[in-house]
Amino acid sequence: MPGRCILPFLAMLCAPAVAAPLVVDEVAPGVYVHHGAHVGIDDPARGDSANIGFVVGERCVAVIDTGGSRRTGTALRATIAATTQRPICYVINTHAHFDHVLGNAAFVAEGTEFVGHVQLAAALDASRGYFAERFAAELDGPPGDVVPPTVLVDGTTSLDLGNRKLVLRAVAEAHTGADLTVYDTRTRTLWSGDLVFIERLPVLDGSLRGWLAWIDAPPAHPIERVVPGHGPVAAPWPAALDAERAYLSALLDETREAVREGRFLEDVAAEAREHPPAGWLLTEPHARNASKAFREVEWE
Ligand SMILES: [Zn+2]
Repeated sequence: MPGRCILPFLAMLCAPAVAAPLVVDEVAPGVYVHHGAHVGIDDPARGDSANIGFVVGERCVAVIDTGGSRRTGTALRATIAATTQRPICYVINTHAHFDHVLGNAAFVAEGTEFVGHVQLAAALDASRGYFAERFAAELDGPPGDVVPPTVLVDGTTSLDLGNRKLVLRAVAEAHTGADLTVYDTRTRTLWSGDLVFIERLPVLDGSLRGWLAWIDAPPAHPIERVVPGHGPVAAPWPAALDAERAYLSALLDETREAVREGRFLEDVAAEAREHPPAGWLLTEPHARNASKAFREVEWE
């Protein structure tokens, strides 16, 4: 699609040459978050459906997740440029799901390191074909063009943005097999990625027991607020975990009971499809969560 329109009456059909900046909230001094829309994976707006943002230090900026499309990433970059003149030194991905990584391509530049969990590169490799097939419009580039990490985190790592330290922690299998949390020491803000879902039903793509273990023993830092992967741009800690803990605990209890009763996975998944949990938006993943939980629990 052209970047310019010559005929004004066709303007609505033309892509803008420069993406409009994304709206961000400064949830704490120097911590900016864009609210991702609550839409499902088949919605046309899926390219902007996760919370993403950036932290500004005295030397440089760290981006935390880049959105589900190159366009969203480009718009975030425009917002950063309108906020600060400092360069972007790090692009951190909290995990490999499309809505957090497909904007990476907008940030490729000299001096910018891409940072992720030690398993992130493998997780992106495993998804490359799927991304190329399902997200060609969002990738908006060569097929499979997903930018991998150049810095891998195994355990805990600190990044210095200039008088501002971020502590990154690679998490054992939980929401996915490559979850990374980012803690801003100056404002005691935890970026959880999708380890915390609020309002929108959690999606299980890793280990149910591992996820509950993280919820029961999250990072030991003093935390004042969390930036969840989905939900409000910031939420009080640890109350932010309450609904998610209740959902995942119930899922584990119900799955264990079903396995004890000798029920079949297909029946459990069908029942989950018919009876989504109350109080959550976008409950369609519930049946898949139930299947995933069943396969994890049946060999306990
Ligand atoms: Zn996710």
